[in-house]
Amino acid sequence: MKDCFKYDLIIKNARIIDGTNSPWFRGDVGIKDGKIIKTGVLEGDDSLEILDAEDQYLTPGFIDIHCHSDSTLPDYPLAESRIFQGITTEIGGNCGISSAPVNPERVKLLRDYAGHLKYDWHRLSEYLERLENSGISTNFGTLTGHGTIRLAVMGFEDRKPDEKEMEEMIMLLRQCMDDGAYGMSSGLIYPPGCFSDVDEMSALVKELKSYGGFYATHMRDEATKTVEAVREALEVCRRSGVPLEISHHKVTRKSHWELDCRTTVAMIEKARREGLDVTADQYPYNASSTTMDSNVPLWGFEGGMEKMLQRLQTPEIREKLKAESNESHVGRWGDIIVSYAESEKNAWTIGKSIAEIAEIRGVDPADACFDLIVEEKGRVNEVNYGMCEEDIEYIMSQRFTMIGSDGYAASLDYPGLPHPRWYGTFPRVIAHYCRDRRLFPLETAIYKMTGLPAARIGIPDRGLIKEGMWADLVLLNFEDIQDTPNYSSPKNTCKGIQRVYVNGVLTAANGVHTGVKSGKVLRKGRKTC
Ligand SMILES: [Zn+2]
Repeated sequence: MKDCFKYDLIIKNARIIDGTNSPWFRGDVGIKDGKIIKTGVLEGDDSLEILDAEDQYLTPGFIDIHCHSDSTLPDYPLAESRIFQGITTEIGGNCGISSAPVNPERVKLLRDYAGHLKYDWHRLSEYLERLENSGISTNFGTLTGHGTIRLAVMGFEDRKPDEKEMEEMIMLLRQCMDDGAYGMSSGLIYPPGCFSDVDEMSALVKELKSYGGFYATHMRDEATKTVEAVREALEVCRRSGVPLEISHHKVTRKSHWELDCRTTVAMIEKARREGLDVTADQYPYNASSTTMDSNVPLWGFEGGMEKMLQRLQTPEIREKLKAESNESHVGRWGDIIVSYAESEKNAWTIGKSIAEIAEIRGVDPADACFDLIVEEKGRVNEVNYGMCEEDIEYIMSQRFTMIGSDGYAASLDYPGLPHPRWYGTFPRVIAHYCRDRRLFPLETAIYKMTGLPAARIGIPDRGLIKEGMWADLVLLNFEDIQDTPNYSSPKNTCKGIQRVYVNGVLTAANGVHTGVKSGKVLRKGRKTC
C-alpha cells in the first residue's frame, strides 16, 4: 500500500528552519523512503500519513560532533539520552579514545584506558559492522583516537616513537580511515596522548589530508595554558594542511577567566583570515566531567593504569604525587564532585565533593581522591565546576563555534549521576542561551547544531532540510523547550522536543521513545543506503 502514495509522510504547516542559518519560512516537507523529496506547499492527498505541525518549528535533526557513545551504544542502542534532546547523528571516537584499532596483546591496557567495551575485534570495520547488525536509534559515525593508536603500538610509554613505531601508527591510522573514520581525535591531556609532541601529531594528522578527514583535539591544557595549547593545535593545522576542530573549547581556571578565551578567539580568527580551516565546539555548562584519575600528575601514568595504581600505593611516590596534586588544586577540591563510583561500598560518595569526602574520612583531600581511585581501580568519575558564564557565552557567540555534548548514549536509568550534558545539551542552548539570554536567533542556534557540524565532519546528505537529504528531523516548541536535566537530577527528558525522526522514521514523540532503531552507521566517503 505504501507504494501507492507519492509520499510516506508530509509534515504540513511548519516553520521550517533549514540549517543554513537562513531565516525560517512557512511550508511543508514531503518524505519518501527516509529522504526529504520535496519542500514547499504540498498537497496532502498523496501521502500515506500527514502530520500537522501546527506552526511549530521543524529543524534538521541535531548533529553532535563530539560524543563518546562508541563505548555505550552496544549496551544502550536506543540512546534515549540522545534522542530525547533531538540528536539524530553523533560522532564518537573523540578525545583520543576510540573503539579501534585494537592490538590483542594490549587489550587490558586498552580497557583501563577506554572503559568497558569488549574489544574482541581488531579493526574499526568490525566494530561498525557489529553496531550495524544490532541496530541503533541514532546515526553514528566516528573518529579514530590518537591515544588508542599510540597505545596499540607503544603502550603507555613516555617517549617519542622511533621510526618503525611511527610507520606502524600511520598504517593503523590509514586502516581506520579506509574503514570509514571521519578523521582523528587527540586527548593530549590524557596518557598516552600527553606523551606525544607537535612533530608526532603533525606527521599523523598530515595522513588525513588525502582522505579529506579532519583533526579534533582535546588540547594539552584547558586551565592555565589554554593559549599555548591553542597555539600548538594551530601549528598542527598549519603544518598538516588538515581542518582543525578544537574540542569543547573552555578555560577551567578562575585566574584565567575572561582573558584567555579573548586571546584564543582572536588567534582562531587570525588563523582563519590566513586560510586555515579552524572551528571549535562547546558544551553549554560551567562544569566539566572526566575520570577522577585526571587529578593525578601525568608522570604517575607512565606504563599504564596498573603502574599508576601501584605508585599511589607506594608511600614515597604517593607523597610526591600528593604534594604536586595539592599544589595544583589549591581552593579547588570543593569544586570536584564524584559522579560515578563502580563499587557499592563507595556509592555514598556520589554527589559529594572531594573536600567533603576528605572531611568525613578525616584525611587530606589528595588522599581522599587517591584512595577513591585505588579502591575503585580507576573506575570513578567526577564533575568539576571550573568555567564561568561570561566565557561560555563569549565562546558560544563566535561564528565558528558549534555545539557538541561530550556525552554518551544512555538510558534514563543509567547508573550514577552523569553530567547533565549527556541528556540536555542541545535544548539547553536553545532554551537558555538563545531564547532567554538572546545570544543569537534560533536560526543561528540550529545552524550550530546542524549545517555547521555537517560541513565540518563532511556529511553531505544530512544537517539540512533540503530535497535529497535524509529525513532526520526535529519538531520543537520554542516557547516550551527546556533542558530539565541538571547536576543533581541529570537523567530527565527535555521538554519541548515534540517529535524526532531518524531517516524518516518517528523515533520519539513528546518524550516517549517508539523503540525504533532506524539509525545508520555512517562511514566517510560512502553513501548510506
Ligand atoms: Zn575531551
